[in-house]
Amino acid sequence: MASTAITHIGTLITNTPSLGHGPLGQLHDAALVIEDDRIAWIGTTSQTPATDSHHDAGGRAVIPGFVDAHSHLLFAGDRTAEFTARMSGRPYTAGGIRSTVTATRRATDAQLAANLTAHLAEMHRQGTTTVETKSGYGLTTADESRALRVARAHTPETTYLGAHITAPEYADDPDGYVALVTGPMLDACAPHARWIDVFCERGAFGADAARTILAAGRARGLLPRVHANQLGPGPGVQVAVEAGAVSADHCTHLTDADITALADAGTVATLLPGCEFSTRSPYPDARRLLAAGVTVALATDCNPGSSYTSSMPFCLAVAVREMGLTPDEALWSATAGGAAALARDDIGHLAPGARADLAVLDAPSPVHLAYRPGVPLVHAVWRDGRPVPPAP
Ligand SMILES: [Zn+2]
Repeated sequence: MASTAITHIGTLITNTPSLGHGPLGQLHDAALVIEDDRIAWIGTTSQTPATDSHHDAGGRAVIPGFVDAHSHLLFAGDRTAEFTARMSGRPYTAGGIRSTVTATRRATDAQLAANLTAHLAEMHRQGTTTVETKSGYGLTTADESRALRVARAHTPETTYLGAHITAPEYADDPDGYVALVTGPMLDACAPHARWIDVFCERGAFGADAARTILAAGRARGLLPRVHANQLGPGPGVQVAVEAGAVSADHCTHLTDADITALADAGTVATLLPGCEFSTRSPYPDARRLLAAGVTVALATDCNPGSSYTSSMPFCLAVAVREMGLTPDEALWSATAGGAAALARDDIGHLAPGARADLAVLDAPSPVHLAYRPGVPLVHAVWRDGRPVPPAP
């Protein structure tokens, strides 16, 4: 078993309170040992056991790799003109998705895969080690299933989102589209997906359709998650909680009853600050969620329409500036919170037995991620115990 030590870590964030100070389990002048794809040991530099190889972090901070629990990377084309129009005053609506559907259907499998891997590489360079990604720009049985097949080759966290919007061919027959999404399309997609998602929003799917879609997915062994309460108040969060969803995503417009429901059910609220930033919309109030005891995750929502950023550091900085999170809370939400949103206990924290997924920062403290927004602070990334991309 090959072992590697990383020593002289200025600040090590473990997200494991028993290993260090405070809720983030911080250690200073710290070290860790990796064996194969797992963390084997964590302590101080002076106590580091002998290993086969050794890296000196030179006082840099080390954090668990970011867990991006919400993205839409199976697409083709871009929506530059729509963004420009929006920044000139036109509001964001769910309908813009249709232009990406047209471009995605025209793309070959190889083009879809190349676009996916280019975005995954961007994410890895910015410290992300786990990515969830969704279908939802095909909206035919063949296009949705091929998107998930392409995605599954790169991440286990794949989500069937045939219920992104009603396919244009079904504009006059929305019930017929729900029957497709819960029938032949589900049959073709379920083998390639872990999750099922529905965009429960005006202009997309209402509460009854969302319930039907999530129940059909559950019956095929898919785990539910929901796009909820993004554009206005609505039933999304209640539908998510009723369906036993692991996460309700967006959560921008919540009533007190929505927040109580999330807290009581233990449903994670995955907040997507890049979306409010890019649509010039009001931000969700993360403090209100935390005060009620809701677990908060942060993710990019990377997609060509409403949030075309692949950067978790950017989202973290916006969440601190605009959503009321402290730098420590935002870091937790972007790592351990993301792991909770994916129901994963092997990622999002660093401790013996955890997956050796981490980012080394060109900064003495991870507070710099919010304090120095837009600065490329990620020095190196390790995933499954190996540098990403592999060292030459
Ligand atoms: Zn989304």
